[in-house]
Amino acid sequence: MTDDCIFCKIIDGEIPSHKIYEDENIIAILDANPVSKGHTLVIPKKHVETIHEAGGMNFLHEGLVNVSNALEKAFNPDGINIAQNNGEKAGQEVFHLHFHVTPIYEGNELDVTYNRGDLEEAEKTVEEIKQKL
Ligand code: AMP
Ligand code: ZN
Repeated sequence: MTDDCIFCKIIDGEIPSHKIYEDENIIAILDANPVSKGHTLVIPKKHVETIHEAGGMNFLHEGLVNVSNALEKAFNPDGINIAQNNGEKAGQEVFHLHFHVTPIYEGNELDVTYNRGDLEEAEKTVEEIKQKL
């Protein structure tokens, strides 16, 4: 539990949420401001801020698959988007790691527009990343 973390307070039961699932490692709740029907957040119980501290949290993957399958069966969406923001510039607002599982319905597709370019210096980029793995 970290003071002033809204998700820690939800996990602790201090503030209410619409809980879908809970086990020893994760909680899944409805997003309070959903992009679409069924928009769910999968959250590790341990307070870590970003993906950089999530080594070993393999249970998150299992949670994402299970929630995605449940959403698929419950609402038969046209697709499911999974997103996770790290850092303010990436759109992170709550600094307790969480994954958005967002059903996509025809006519309500996500409007994510990136300025895409051509891939340049790919070999150099590959090397820069590989050296840090
Ligand atoms: P992010 O921008 O990735 O940090 O996403 C934070 C998400 O948390 C937003 O989609 C909010 O709608 C959601 N959120 C904030 N407070 C609550 C809350 N008390 N219960 C459920 N979802 C929340
Ligand atoms: Zn927290």
